[in-house]
Amino acid sequence: MDETSFQAMGEQIKDLNGIDVDRCSGWHEGTRLVRGYTDFDRSTGTINAPLYFSTAYAHPEYGKTTGFCYSRCGNPTRLELENTIAMLEHGKKAWAFSSGMAAISTLLKLFAPGDHVIVGDDLYGGTYRLIEDVYAAYGVDFQMVDATDAQAMRAAIRPTTRGIFVETPTNPMMKVVDLAATAALAHEAGAILIVDNTFLTPYFQKPFDFGADVVVHSGTKYLGGHHDITSGFIVVRDESLVERIFMLSMSEGGMLSPFDSWLTLRSLKTLGVRMERQQANAFALVDFLKQHPRVTQVVYPGDPDHPAYGLSQAQTTGFGAMVSFKLAHAEDVPVCLNRLKLILFAESLGGVESLMTFPLVQTHGAMPADLLDRLGIDDRLLRFSVGLEDPEDLIRDLEQALS
Ligand SMILES: *Cc1c(COP(=O)(O)O)cnc(C)c1O
Repeated sequence: MDETSFQAMGEQIKDLNGIDVDRCSGWHEGTRLVRGYTDFDRSTGTINAPLYFSTAYAHPEYGKTTGFCYSRCGNPTRLELENTIAMLEHGKKAWAFSSGMAAISTLLKLFAPGDHVIVGDDLYGGTYRLIEDVYAAYGVDFQMVDATDAQAMRAAIRPTTRGIFVETPTNPMMKVVDLAATAALAHEAGAILIVDNTFLTPYFQKPFDFGADVVVHSGTKYLGGHHDITSGFIVVRDESLVERIFMLSMSEGGMLSPFDSWLTLRSLKTLGVRMERQQANAFALVDFLKQHPRVTQVVYPGDPDHPAYGLSQAQTTGFGAMVSFKLAHAEDVPVCLNRLKLILFAESLGGVESLMTFPLVQTHGAMPADLLDRLGIDDRLLRFSVGLEDPEDLIRDLEQALS
Protein backbone atom coordinates (compact mmCIF):
# COMPACT_ATOMS: atom_id res chain seq x y z
CA MET A 1 0.00 0.00 0.00
CA ASP A 2 1.17 3.47 -0.86
CA GLU A 3 2.43 5.30 2.19
CA THR A 4 0.13 8.26 1.61
CA SER A 5 -3.08 6.22 1.63
CA PHE A 6 -5.66 6.76 4.33
CA GLN A 7 -4.79 3.44 5.90
CA ALA A 8 -1.16 4.45 6.27
CA MET A 9 -2.25 7.75 7.80
CA GLY A 10 -3.85 5.76 10.56
CA GLU A 11 -0.41 4.73 11.72
CA GLN A 12 0.00 8.28 12.95
CA ILE A 13 -2.69 7.75 15.55
CA LYS A 14 -0.75 4.81 16.94
CA ASP A 15 2.53 6.59 17.42
CA LEU A 16 0.91 9.98 18.10
CA ASN A 17 3.61 11.84 16.25
CA GLY A 18 1.39 14.09 14.19
CA ILE A 19 2.01 15.15 10.64
CA ASP A 20 5.10 14.77 8.52
CA VAL A 21 6.06 18.43 8.39
CA ASP A 22 8.58 17.94 5.55
CA ARG A 23 5.84 16.58 3.35
CA CYS A 24 3.97 19.88 3.61
CA SER A 25 6.72 22.07 2.22
CA GLY A 26 6.43 21.47 -1.53
CA TRP A 27 3.28 23.40 -2.38
CA HIS A 28 2.17 26.95 -1.68
CA GLU A 29 -0.61 27.42 0.81
CA GLY A 30 -3.27 28.17 -1.82
CA THR A 31 -2.64 24.74 -3.29
CA ARG A 32 -2.56 23.05 0.11
CA LEU A 33 -5.93 24.55 1.00
CA VAL A 34 -7.52 23.05 -2.08
CA ARG A 35 -5.81 19.68 -1.91
CA GLY A 36 -5.58 19.08 1.85
CA TYR A 37 -2.91 17.08 3.61
CA THR A 38 -3.27 13.84 1.67
CA ASP A 39 -4.33 15.29 -1.69
CA PHE A 40 -6.26 12.45 -3.32
CA ASP A 41 -6.68 8.96 -1.90
CA ARG A 42 -4.00 6.80 -3.54
CA SER A 43 -5.84 3.51 -3.07
CA THR A 44 -9.17 4.47 -4.71
CA GLY A 45 -8.34 7.67 -6.59
CA THR A 46 -11.14 9.63 -4.93
CA ILE A 47 -10.39 13.34 -5.31
CA ASN A 48 -12.36 14.30 -2.21
CA ALA A 49 -11.52 12.81 1.17
CA PRO A 50 -13.61 9.67 1.66
CA LEU A 51 -16.35 9.99 4.27
CA TYR A 52 -16.08 7.09 6.71
CA PHE A 53 -18.96 6.60 9.13
CA SER A 54 -17.71 3.36 10.68
CA THR A 55 -17.36 3.58 14.45
CA ALA A 56 -15.47 0.27 14.77
CA TYR A 57 -12.42 -0.93 12.85
CA ALA A 58 -11.58 -4.59 12.30
CA HIS A 59 -8.09 -5.72 13.24
CA PRO A 60 -6.20 -7.72 10.60
CA GLU A 61 -4.99 -10.18 13.25
CA TYR A 62 -4.14 -10.37 16.95
CA GLY A 63 -1.53 -7.73 17.80
CA LYS A 64 -2.00 -5.84 14.54
CA THR A 65 -4.06 -2.75 13.75
CA THR A 66 -4.79 -0.47 10.81
CA GLY A 67 -4.11 2.38 13.22
CA PHE A 68 -7.83 2.89 13.84
CA CYS A 69 -9.82 1.01 16.46
CA TYR A 70 -12.81 3.09 17.58
CA SER A 71 -14.05 6.42 16.17
CA ARG A 72 -13.75 8.46 19.38
CA CYS A 73 -10.01 7.77 19.26
CA GLY A 74 -9.61 8.21 15.52
CA ASN A 75 -11.62 8.39 12.31
CA PRO A 76 -9.98 8.55 8.85
CA THR A 77 -12.09 11.49 7.62
CA ARG A 78 -11.53 13.44 10.81
CA LEU A 79 -7.81 12.64 10.70
CA GLU A 80 -7.51 14.11 7.21
CA LEU A 81 -9.15 17.31 8.49
CA GLU A 82 -6.94 17.38 11.59
CA ASN A 83 -3.80 16.86 9.51
CA THR A 84 -4.85 19.59 7.09
CA ILE A 85 -5.45 22.06 9.93
CA ALA A 86 -2.10 21.14 11.57
CA MET A 87 -0.36 21.69 8.24
CA LEU A 88 -2.04 25.07 7.61
CA GLU A 89 -1.12 26.29 11.11
CA HIS A 90 2.53 25.20 10.74
CA GLY A 91 1.87 22.92 13.69
CA LYS A 92 2.50 19.26 14.39
CA LYS A 93 -0.87 17.82 15.36
CA ALA A 94 -4.50 18.95 15.53
CA TRP A 95 -7.70 17.54 17.02
CA ALA A 96 -11.18 18.37 15.74
CA PHE A 97 -13.98 18.90 18.26
CA SER A 98 -17.74 19.28 18.06
CA SER A 99 -17.49 22.99 18.94
CA GLY A 100 -14.96 25.67 19.75
CA MET A 101 -16.03 25.54 23.38
CA ALA A 102 -15.52 21.74 23.48
CA ALA A 103 -11.96 22.30 22.23
CA ILE A 104 -11.23 25.06 24.74
CA SER A 105 -12.83 23.08 27.56
CA THR A 106 -10.62 20.07 26.87
CA LEU A 107 -7.56 22.27 26.55
CA LEU A 108 -8.12 23.98 29.90
CA LYS A 109 -7.79 20.56 31.58
CA LEU A 110 -4.07 20.90 30.99
CA PHE A 111 -4.21 23.09 34.10
CA ALA A 112 -4.47 21.83 37.67
CA PRO A 113 -5.76 23.36 40.92
CA GLY A 114 -3.39 26.09 42.07
CA ASP A 115 -2.22 26.93 38.55
CA HIS A 116 -2.39 30.58 37.55
CA VAL A 117 -3.51 31.34 34.01
CA ILE A 118 -3.48 34.83 32.50
CA VAL A 119 -6.35 35.44 30.10
CA GLY A 120 -6.61 38.39 27.73
CA ASP A 121 -9.54 40.40 29.05
CA ASP A 122 -11.23 41.23 25.73
CA LEU A 123 -12.36 37.79 24.69
CA TYR A 124 -15.21 35.68 23.41
CA GLY A 125 -18.06 35.75 25.94
CA GLY A 126 -18.42 31.96 25.99
CA THR A 127 -14.76 31.52 26.91
CA TYR A 128 -15.24 34.06 29.67
CA ARG A 129 -18.26 32.10 30.99
CA LEU A 130 -16.32 28.83 30.83
CA ILE A 131 -13.41 30.11 32.92
CA GLU A 132 -15.55 32.10 35.37
CA ASP A 133 -18.54 29.82 35.89
CA VAL A 134 -17.04 26.37 35.25
CA TYR A 135 -13.26 26.15 35.67
CA ALA A 136 -12.81 28.67 38.48
CA ALA A 137 -14.70 26.23 40.72
CA TYR A 138 -11.98 23.62 40.11
CA GLY A 139 -9.31 25.80 41.68
CA VAL A 140 -7.55 27.13 38.58
CA ASP A 141 -6.75 30.77 39.16
CA PHE A 142 -7.67 32.75 36.03
CA GLN A 143 -6.68 36.39 35.89
CA MET A 144 -8.03 38.72 33.22
CA VAL A 145 -5.41 41.18 31.96
CA ASP A 146 -5.29 43.58 29.01
CA ALA A 147 -3.04 41.48 26.78
CA THR A 148 -2.13 44.53 24.69
CA ASP A 149 -0.53 46.16 27.77
CA ALA A 150 3.00 44.71 28.03
CA GLN A 151 3.62 46.17 31.47
CA ALA A 152 0.38 44.83 32.93
CA MET A 153 1.12 41.40 31.45
CA ARG A 154 4.60 41.27 32.95
CA ALA A 155 3.29 42.47 36.33
CA ALA A 156 0.70 39.66 36.32
CA ILE A 157 3.28 36.84 36.11
CA ARG A 158 3.53 34.72 39.28
CA PRO A 159 5.62 31.67 40.20
CA THR A 160 2.48 29.57 39.60
CA THR A 161 1.74 31.00 36.13
CA ARG A 162 1.35 28.03 33.77
CA GLY A 163 -0.45 29.55 30.84
CA ILE A 164 -1.35 32.70 28.92
CA PHE A 165 -4.49 32.59 26.78
CA VAL A 166 -5.15 35.37 24.25
CA GLU A 167 -7.28 36.19 21.24
CA THR A 168 -5.91 38.48 18.56
CA PRO A 169 -7.53 40.49 17.15
CA THR A 170 -9.70 40.62 20.25
CA ASN A 171 -13.45 40.17 20.23
CA PRO A 172 -15.21 42.58 19.82
CA MET A 173 -12.83 45.53 20.27
CA MET A 174 -10.35 44.39 17.60
CA LYS A 175 -7.25 45.12 19.67
CA VAL A 176 -4.04 43.43 18.55
CA VAL A 177 -1.81 41.38 20.87
CA ASP A 178 1.93 41.22 20.18
CA LEU A 179 2.38 37.48 19.64
CA ALA A 180 6.19 37.29 19.74
CA ALA A 181 6.45 39.43 22.90
CA THR A 182 3.68 37.48 24.64
CA ALA A 183 5.27 34.14 23.71
CA ALA A 184 8.61 35.33 25.08
CA LEU A 185 6.98 36.44 28.32
CA ALA A 186 5.18 33.10 28.69
CA HIS A 187 8.32 31.06 28.07
CA GLU A 188 10.37 33.15 30.45
CA ALA A 189 7.78 32.31 33.12
CA GLY A 190 7.75 28.61 32.23
CA ALA A 191 4.21 28.91 30.87
CA ILE A 192 2.60 28.07 27.53
CA LEU A 193 1.02 30.60 25.17
CA ILE A 194 -2.41 29.63 23.83
CA VAL A 195 -3.82 31.71 20.96
CA ASP A 196 -7.45 31.65 19.83
CA ASN A 197 -6.95 32.15 16.08
CA THR A 198 -10.65 32.13 15.14
CA PHE A 199 -10.82 35.66 13.73
CA LEU A 200 -7.96 35.48 11.23
CA THR A 201 -7.52 31.72 10.64
CA PRO A 202 -4.13 30.31 9.60
CA TYR A 203 -4.70 31.90 6.20
CA PHE A 204 -3.94 35.34 7.68
CA GLN A 205 -2.13 34.55 10.95
CA LYS A 206 0.15 31.71 12.05
CA PRO A 207 0.75 32.08 15.80
CA PHE A 208 3.27 29.20 15.89
CA ASP A 209 5.61 31.23 13.68
CA PHE A 210 5.76 33.76 16.54
CA GLY A 211 6.35 31.23 19.33
CA ALA A 212 2.83 30.27 20.46
CA ASP A 213 2.55 26.73 21.83
CA VAL A 214 -1.14 25.95 21.27
CA VAL A 215 -3.72 27.35 18.85
CA VAL A 216 -7.45 26.94 19.34
CA HIS A 217 -10.27 27.65 16.91
CA SER A 218 -13.95 27.91 16.67
CA GLY A 219 -14.25 26.22 13.28
CA THR A 220 -17.87 27.36 13.32
CA LYS A 221 -16.65 30.70 12.00
CA TYR A 222 -14.33 31.21 8.98
CA LEU A 223 -13.00 27.64 8.73
CA GLY A 224 -16.52 26.27 8.25
CA GLY A 225 -17.46 29.55 6.64
CA HIS A 226 -21.09 28.90 5.68
CA HIS A 227 -22.97 29.05 8.98
CA ASP A 228 -23.73 25.34 8.80
CA ILE A 229 -21.07 23.50 10.86
CA THR A 230 -20.32 23.77 14.58
CA SER A 231 -16.72 22.71 15.18
CA GLY A 232 -13.54 23.50 17.07
CA PHE A 233 -9.83 22.69 17.01
CA ILE A 234 -6.80 22.35 19.24
CA VAL A 235 -3.48 22.53 17.39
CA VAL A 236 -0.03 22.10 18.95
CA ARG A 237 3.28 23.37 17.62
CA ASP A 238 5.45 20.42 18.58
CA GLU A 239 5.29 16.98 20.10
CA SER A 240 5.59 17.98 23.74
CA LEU A 241 1.84 18.27 24.39
CA VAL A 242 0.63 15.68 21.88
CA GLU A 243 0.28 12.70 24.20
CA ARG A 244 -1.45 14.64 26.96
CA ILE A 245 -3.97 16.34 24.67
CA PHE A 246 -4.67 13.09 22.83
CA MET A 247 -5.40 11.46 26.21
CA LEU A 248 -7.69 14.34 27.26
CA SER A 249 -9.57 14.52 23.96
CA MET A 250 -10.25 10.82 23.62
CA SER A 251 -11.14 10.49 27.29
CA GLU A 252 -13.66 13.34 27.12
CA GLY A 253 -15.02 12.47 23.69
CA GLY A 254 -16.10 15.84 22.31
CA MET A 255 -14.97 14.86 18.81
CA LEU A 256 -16.24 16.23 15.50
CA SER A 257 -18.52 13.87 13.54
CA PRO A 258 -17.29 12.31 10.28
CA PHE A 259 -19.84 14.24 8.21
CA ASP A 260 -18.96 17.60 9.73
CA SER A 261 -15.27 16.75 9.29
CA TRP A 262 -15.89 16.09 5.62
CA LEU A 263 -17.93 19.28 5.24
CA THR A 264 -15.16 21.31 6.91
CA LEU A 265 -12.58 19.84 4.50
CA ARG A 266 -14.83 21.00 1.69
CA SER A 267 -15.03 24.48 3.26
CA LEU A 268 -11.26 24.73 3.59
CA LYS A 269 -10.85 24.44 -0.17
CA THR A 270 -12.28 27.96 -0.50
CA LEU A 271 -10.88 29.45 2.73
CA GLY A 272 -8.31 31.54 0.86
CA VAL A 273 -10.69 33.04 -1.69
CA ARG A 274 -13.34 33.64 0.97
CA MET A 275 -10.90 35.40 3.32
CA GLU A 276 -9.50 37.60 0.53
CA ARG A 277 -12.90 38.64 -0.78
CA GLN A 278 -14.48 39.12 2.65
CA GLN A 279 -11.49 41.28 3.60
CA ALA A 280 -11.88 43.35 0.42
CA ASN A 281 -15.56 43.85 1.32
CA ALA A 282 -14.55 44.83 4.86
CA PHE A 283 -12.22 47.54 3.51
CA ALA A 284 -15.08 48.96 1.44
CA LEU A 285 -17.42 48.94 4.45
CA VAL A 286 -14.80 50.55 6.71
CA ASP A 287 -14.41 53.40 4.20
CA PHE A 288 -18.17 53.88 4.17
CA LEU A 289 -18.58 53.73 7.96
CA LYS A 290 -15.67 56.07 8.67
CA GLN A 291 -17.26 58.94 6.77
CA HIS A 292 -20.81 58.36 8.06
CA PRO A 293 -22.09 61.17 10.32
CA ARG A 294 -23.94 58.80 12.69
CA VAL A 295 -20.80 56.68 13.28
CA THR A 296 -18.33 57.95 15.88
CA GLN A 297 -15.74 55.16 15.88
CA VAL A 298 -14.71 52.34 13.55
CA VAL A 299 -12.22 49.67 14.68
CA TYR A 300 -10.58 47.50 12.07
CA PRO A 301 -6.92 46.38 12.26
CA GLY A 302 -6.49 47.03 8.53
CA ASP A 303 -7.33 50.71 8.96
CA PRO A 304 -4.07 52.74 8.97
CA ASP A 305 -5.64 54.80 11.79
CA HIS A 306 -5.89 51.68 14.02
CA PRO A 307 -3.30 52.04 16.83
CA ALA A 308 -1.87 48.58 16.12
CA TYR A 309 -1.88 48.80 12.33
CA GLY A 310 1.91 48.40 12.21
CA LEU A 311 1.90 45.42 14.57
CA SER A 312 -0.84 43.79 12.50
CA GLN A 313 1.22 44.21 9.37
CA ALA A 314 4.22 42.66 11.12
CA GLN A 315 2.50 39.51 12.38
CA THR A 316 -0.34 38.84 9.95
CA THR A 317 -0.75 38.54 6.19
CA GLY A 318 -4.24 40.05 6.31
CA PHE A 319 -6.67 41.82 8.60
CA GLY A 320 -9.79 39.71 8.27
CA ALA A 321 -13.36 40.84 7.85
CA MET A 322 -14.52 41.71 11.36
CA VAL A 323 -15.36 45.36 11.88
CA SER A 324 -16.67 46.95 15.07
CA PHE A 325 -18.18 50.42 15.16
CA LYS A 326 -20.02 52.77 17.47
CA LEU A 327 -23.03 54.90 16.70
CA ALA A 328 -23.30 58.38 18.15
CA HIS A 329 -26.59 57.61 19.89
CA ALA A 330 -27.58 54.40 21.70
CA GLU A 331 -31.22 54.87 20.58
CA ASP A 332 -30.07 54.42 16.98
CA VAL A 333 -28.78 50.88 17.61
CA PRO A 334 -32.18 49.07 17.75
CA VAL A 335 -33.48 51.27 14.93
CA CYS A 336 -30.52 50.32 12.74
CA LEU A 337 -30.85 46.61 13.57
CA ASN A 338 -34.58 46.64 12.75
CA ARG A 339 -34.08 48.43 9.46
CA LEU A 340 -31.40 46.10 8.07
CA LYS A 341 -32.80 44.20 5.10
CA LEU A 342 -29.79 42.37 3.64
CA ILE A 343 -27.38 42.17 6.57
CA LEU A 344 -28.76 39.68 9.08
CA PHE A 345 -29.11 40.51 12.77
CA ALA A 346 -27.58 37.33 14.19
CA GLU A 347 -25.04 36.06 16.67
CA SER A 348 -22.11 34.51 14.87
CA LEU A 349 -19.40 35.47 12.40
CA GLY A 350 -17.12 34.31 9.65
CA GLY A 351 -19.67 32.93 7.20
CA VAL A 352 -20.44 33.99 3.65
CA GLU A 353 -23.59 35.83 4.83
CA SER A 354 -23.03 39.22 6.50
CA LEU A 355 -24.13 39.31 10.13
CA MET A 356 -24.58 42.22 12.52
CA THR A 357 -24.21 41.54 16.26
CA PHE A 358 -24.99 43.72 19.27
CA PRO A 359 -22.25 42.40 21.63
CA LEU A 360 -23.60 43.97 24.80
CA VAL A 361 -26.78 41.90 24.71
CA GLN A 362 -25.67 38.95 22.56
CA THR A 363 -22.13 37.54 22.55
CA HIS A 364 -20.91 39.37 25.67
CA GLY A 365 -24.07 39.24 27.79
CA ALA A 366 -22.29 37.01 30.35
CA MET A 367 -19.65 39.62 31.24
CA PRO A 368 -20.02 41.80 34.36
CA ALA A 369 -20.84 45.50 33.91
CA ASP A 370 -17.49 46.83 35.15
CA LEU A 371 -15.50 44.70 32.70
CA LEU A 372 -17.78 45.65 29.79
CA ASP A 373 -17.35 49.25 30.80
CA ARG A 374 -13.56 49.02 30.96
CA LEU A 375 -13.43 47.34 27.55
CA GLY A 376 -15.78 49.85 25.95
CA ILE A 377 -18.46 47.28 25.09
CA ASP A 378 -21.49 49.53 25.41
CA ASP A 379 -24.97 50.19 24.06
CA ARG A 380 -23.55 52.02 21.03
CA LEU A 381 -21.25 49.21 19.82
CA LEU A 382 -22.08 46.96 16.87
CA ARG A 383 -19.93 44.13 15.52
CA PHE A 384 -20.11 43.47 11.82
CA SER A 385 -19.03 40.18 10.25
CA VAL A 386 -18.65 41.21 6.63
CA GLY A 387 -19.70 38.45 4.26
CA LEU A 388 -19.34 37.68 0.59
CA GLU A 389 -22.30 39.62 -0.79
CA ASP A 390 -21.71 42.38 -3.32
CA PRO A 391 -20.16 45.26 -1.33
CA GLU A 392 -22.40 47.84 -3.02
CA ASP A 393 -25.49 46.05 -1.72
CA LEU A 394 -24.00 45.89 1.78
CA ILE A 395 -23.23 49.63 1.72
CA ARG A 396 -26.70 50.47 0.40
CA ASP A 397 -28.28 48.39 3.19
CA LEU A 398 -26.26 50.14 5.89
CA GLU A 399 -26.94 53.50 4.30
CA GLN A 400 -30.71 53.07 4.55
CA ALA A 401 -30.47 51.50 8.05
CA LEU A 402 -28.46 54.46 9.35
CA SER A 403 -30.44 57.17 7.56
C1 LIG B 1 -17.35 31.41 18.52
C2 LIG B 1 -16.08 31.53 19.22
C3 LIG B 1 -15.67 30.57 20.17
C4 LIG B 1 -16.56 29.40 20.57
O1 LIG B 1 -16.74 28.50 19.52
P1 LIG B 1 -18.09 27.63 19.31
O2 LIG B 1 -17.81 26.94 18.02
O3 LIG B 1 -19.23 28.60 19.25
O4 LIG B 1 -18.21 26.72 20.46
C5 LIG B 1 -14.42 30.73 20.73
N1 LIG B 1 -13.61 31.76 20.41
C6 LIG B 1 -13.98 32.70 19.52
C7 LIG B 1 -13.05 33.82 19.20
C8 LIG B 1 -15.22 32.63 18.90
O5 LIG B 1 -15.58 33.56 18.02
